[in-house]
Amino acid sequence: MEQSVDIVVVGAGIAGLVAARELTRAGLEVLVLEARDRVGGRLLNADLPDGSPIDVGGQWVGPTQHRIHELIRELGLETFPTHTAGRHIAELGGTRSEYTGAIPHIDPRTLADIVRARSRLDRMAAAIPPDEPWRAADAERLDSQTFETWLRRAAWTRRGRAYFRSVTEAVFAAGPEDLSALWAGFYIGAAGGLDALIDTAGGAQQDRVVGGAQAIALAVARELGERVVLDSPVIGIEWSDAGAHVRSHRGVVSARHVVIAVPPPLASRISYSPGVPGDRDQLVQRMPMGRVIKINVVYPEPFWRTDGWSGQANSTSRPLGTVFDNTPHEGGPGVLVGFLEGRHADAGARMTAEDRHALVLEDLAGYYGPRARDPLAVIDHDWAGEEYSRGCYGAFATPGTLTRFGEHLRRPVGPLHWAGTETATEWAGYMDGAVESGKRVAAEIARPDRQGPVRA
Ligand SMILES: Cc1cc2nc3c(=O)[nH]c(=O)nc-3n(C[C@H](O)[C@H](O)[C@H](O)COP(=O)(O)OP(=O)(O)OC[C@H]3O[C@@H](n4cnc5c(N)ncnc54)[C@H](O)[C@@H]3O)c2cc1C
Repeated sequence: MEQSVDIVVVGAGIAGLVAARELTRAGLEVLVLEARDRVGGRLLNADLPDGSPIDVGGQWVGPTQHRIHELIRELGLETFPTHTAGRHIAELGGTRSEYTGAIPHIDPRTLADIVRARSRLDRMAAAIPPDEPWRAADAERLDSQTFETWLRRAAWTRRGRAYFRSVTEAVFAAGPEDLSALWAGFYIGAAGGLDALIDTAGGAQQDRVVGGAQAIALAVARELGERVVLDSPVIGIEWSDAGAHVRSHRGVVSARHVVIAVPPPLASRISYSPGVPGDRDQLVQRMPMGRVIKINVVYPEPFWRTDGWSGQANSTSRPLGTVFDNTPHEGGPGVLVGFLEGRHADAGARMTAEDRHALVLEDLAGYYGPRARDPLAVIDHDWAGEEYSRGCYGAFATPGTLTRFGEHLRRPVGPLHWAGTETATEWAGYMDGAVESGKRVAAEIARPDRQGPVRA
């Protein structure tokens, strides 16, 4: 393939596809080079035993995620509410509570600790400017410590700390000791607070996409047609101020601009000639991916509902610390989805599939009784094993990264422009953030006078 276009987009995840859609609408000639044999990146549908789709990647959308909702509407897709009716289960420090609403029954001392620390966390997050977190008044202090160190000062009880560890694992697929406190605060602030991140009704887990979230990527790719080329991992980019030559296994494509819409650690696996500036490379060296194994467990019917449970369970002591009802919109089989996150994903990935499934079923039986031990199928997906994701839910910044190199997250390098959910200023790490980044990068190229974050 020897070709010349206005813009090459590297990566057909939501960010790359949205960028390509916007640039095409602006009248530019665009080619999307995607490494995999499919579009969607971190969005992926698998088949349930009856052939209906189930999400093994990103899936939920929340009510304040306006950009992804707008895209879903434009594509003629629909959402439906996550099943929440019934009693939720929370196991905190070995004590089980069954509850409805948002707050589990926990002892007053732990509850007071959690409430106070959460409000401190929300205040810390709200004070961080989401487009320039490194300019927060407290940036240096926050970025010189891990989130674990920050939490140890904020939460005083053993159970309170266990709660925040498990919330961190659920949100970042990493432990609090892995993250910069400034990154944690930025990420929480970019979502509008901790409630918005962890709640089902009213929060990021409120709704699901009919047909699975990969349907969003598939629909945009259909619009783009032959502009999306699969099985084309980009291995090298030669660039100058005049443009770039983008090399994949299929040949070389020349373009005036290149949008690199892949997660930061994968952007650094592309070879650049000349090399990107040291600051940009130092940045991505310090932004590893979280790690998650997502597991859908399929039953003949959602038996937990008949027993009065919602299917939503959390535990600070089980590896499968977060569980939701993931039964398809149309009904059919019952599905519970759970996550092995951070260090639990390390351990899960080192097991045989058989041992991992046994561990998962044991935890589900702990939540919902012995019937959980008898599924029709277990569908698990280890995202760190995927060559073109290498982890999930997203990349995070380690201490010292944002204050030293953060301003290079979105700063173009000659004709190279950076997109992907990690570059978003609202809902970074989520599909919504990926849409924001695709729109922002398209505006950066099509309307260079309008640099900076695009507000929908
Ligand atoms: C298990 C899981 C659960 C999640 N849950 C949610 C959720 O409920 N809600 C939510 O909003 N978000 C969720 N997320 C996060 C969400 O999926 C991502 O934020 C979003 O999909 C990221 O889109 P992106 O386009 O920025 O990146 P990606 O989807 O990672 O797209 C990057 C693309 O680039 C391609 N690529 C990589 N390297 C190259 C190369 N060298 N050449 C060419 N192509 C390349 C990749 O194959 C990929 O297609 C979840 C993610 C996972 C994995």
